[in-house]
Amino acid sequence: MASKGRIAIVGAGPGGMAAALAAHKKGFEVRLFERYPEVKPAGNILNLWPPPQQILKLIGVDTGNLGAPCAIRFERHDGRKRADVVLPEEVVREYGGGFIGLIRWGLYKRMLAAMPAGMLQLDHDCQAIEDRGRDVLLRFRNGREYVADVVIGADGLNSFVRRHLWGDEPIRHQRLHLVGGYLLWDGEAPTEGVIAHDRTTQCSYTPIRHDDKVGYEWWVLEACDPDAPPPPDLLGWAAERATNFSPTMRDLIARTPPEHVQRWPIRDRVPRDQWSKGRITLVGDAAHPTSPYAAYGAGMSIEDGYFLAHELAAVDLADTGAARRALQAYEERRKPHTVRVVQEAYMTGKAFHHMPALLRPLRDLVYDHTPFLQKVIGNDTPQHICAQLDEIRATLATGG
Ligand SMILES: Cc1cc2nc3c(=O)[nH]c(=O)nc-3n(C[C@H](O)[C@H](O)[C@H](O)COP(=O)(O)OP(=O)(O)OC[C@H]3O[C@@H](n4cnc5c(N)ncnc54)[C@H](O)[C@@H]3O)c2cc1C
Repeated sequence: MASKGRIAIVGAGPGGMAAALAAHKKGFEVRLFERYPEVKPAGNILNLWPPPQQILKLIGVDTGNLGAPCAIRFERHDGRKRADVVLPEEVVREYGGGFIGLIRWGLYKRMLAAMPAGMLQLDHDCQAIEDRGRDVLLRFRNGREYVADVVIGADGLNSFVRRHLWGDEPIRHQRLHLVGGYLLWDGEAPTEGVIAHDRTTQCSYTPIRHDDKVGYEWWVLEACDPDAPPPPDLLGWAAERATNFSPTMRDLIARTPPEHVQRWPIRDRVPRDQWSKGRITLVGDAAHPTSPYAAYGAGMSIEDGYFLAHELAAVDLADTGAARRALQAYEERRKPHTVRVVQEAYMTGKAFHHMPALLRPLRDLVYDHTPFLQKVIGNDTPQHICAQLDEIRATLATGG
């Protein structure tokens, strides 16, 4: 097939890899530039909702046994149920339970395996961008250059491409941090996950699958001072917070090897009105970084890449006006969805961890004795996310 044009992607995280695979499927000549000498997952644990699972399949990634599907419920720290996360029945049937848990590297390996030789260019730290109207010139720290018809910034929270387009913009420190770990064993995958809160802290676990092993990932999330040093003993810190949570949670922390534990401060950005300029656009965290409360930042970045390739394939990239309109169409399609997810995740973190102490008993009264959490987190959020499956179907019907 003759190339439909040259697409350069900066950053080989889930967003960049998905954009690269989707654009390649559409017949573009794709280069995926990663600054490091290897593709390195930022973090260990991950959950993926059904829409990104579906897209991975469509862009040629082997999703067989990629993760452990499970049912999720929200609980109070003492085990009192607050909400079930309800996915549509047909989704549960098709995806064996819906939401899957996995190790991040498991996803990266599968995406890398789907790439044709020559697509991934390691050790290419993008340092300069020049949109020349008819094309875009990229310059890298290693002295190399590349000319593309369209450039996609998939370079994460501290995106260089975003800064080039829109200047320095503040990062929103959520004054939260998360310590997460995992453990694996041989046998049958567990099928139930629990997201539990006490007045100040979240302690949660979900089943995972990685290669031929199964197990659990867990995380502890709490308010923090972003300027304070991290706790020196992460496992000890997590165990201390989990003392009034379930025995399962405490047992998982106790059995986790220290090398399987990491900590992240939680940061995002206020959603911006415009992502693209000229022949350059953004996907994933470069466009809309998201708190892990949504468990959907990587999922949305994978969706971005798929829908962007679909819009680009509909135009002639040699026509600058048409290329710009395609990038605009892509972001108009993605903004309402991603803004809602980013802001809801931010507000959920605030409600659970930054409520003034006097109001917390009232909040918990509502969470424990009204259908509020079931409606918002149990029903509306998964429904909103699964509506992306309809959008994928509609895209497929128009040649996606
Ligand atoms: C604790 C935690 C838990 C999370 N849990 C989930 C979850 O359960 N489910 C989920 O869907 N999401 C989750 N997320 C969010 C998810 O990790 C991110 O949204 C996702 O990694 C974003 O993917 P990305 O490809 O946009 O960016 P990134 O993963 O940040 O990748 C960016 C890539 O660009 C490269 N790069 C940067 N600058 C340059 C440059 N100048 N030149 C070349 N390359 C460059 C980087 O090296 C990196 O490889 C979680 C996040 C955190 C912090």
